[in-house]
Amino acid sequence: MSDYKIEHWTAGQTVPLDDNDGSSVSISVNNRAATRQAIITALGKNGHKLIERSSWHAQPPRESMRESHWDYRDIVIHHAGRSYSCGASSIAEMQRVQTEDMGRNPAFDDVGYHYAVSCQGDIYEGRDIRFIGEHVASDNSGKVGIVFLSDLVQMGEAYEQEYGELSFLDKIKNIRGIVTDRMVVKHDRPTTPQIKAAGALCKVLKEFFNIKRLGGHREYQMLATNKGRACPGHLGMEVVKSLRMELGLSGPGK
Ligand SMILES: [Zn+2]
Repeated sequence: MSDYKIEHWTAGQTVPLDDNDGSSVSISVNNRAATRQAIITALGKNGHKLIERSSWHAQPPRESMRESHWDYRDIVIHHAGRSYSCGASSIAEMQRVQTEDMGRNPAFDDVGYHYAVSCQGDIYEGRDIRFIGEHVASDNSGKVGIVFLSDLVQMGEAYEQEYGELSFLDKIKNIRGIVTDRMVVKHDRPTTPQIKAAGALCKVLKEFFNIKRLGGHREYQMLATNKGRACPGHLGMEVVKSLRMELGLSGPGK
């Protein structure tokens, strides 16, 4: 029997091609449904029961969803945004993320992110991992998207990271966001259960895929389009840095 190599970090199985001749085997390495399930099982074993799409009553995705190239190498961390908060019901927040993402212009096919982590440390399934996410503008290939269901951006940070570089006309177009950025004083902080759950999720993803890098949305967006993004906030970036250390991962582009 010749040697074989599993190219992707996923569940594989051997199938004899000819019962009379056991010398050749085919290797099924793209058993994606099994991989999705195995991720859920592994999280459960680590004490993190994944809340699947059916449990939060997700709407079906659009048929235009694109299958992943199954080449996940990056994990991108996001925060949900300024209108989200730790105090809200996470199931309702998940439904809102999906409604907002599918109602964008241009519309997303489903929730943009693959997973979400609540302030209570519950992990939600967003977009099915078998499909390419929509969470970094124009560069989603090979990227798992994880969103913290909270608002981690502090006052003035959106201007500093995002709005400040816009032209005068674009500043006028974004005036509401700019004013909000100046006025809002309330934001969340990453909670200990949330940080622990995100770490457990990234660790499991690393077991199943050849994950090399982890970063915040702002880092990936700058690389992809040279545009600033406030997401996931300085507070979210602190979590990003500690997760990189904990998991031995590089930053984006390295
Ligand atoms: Zn983001």
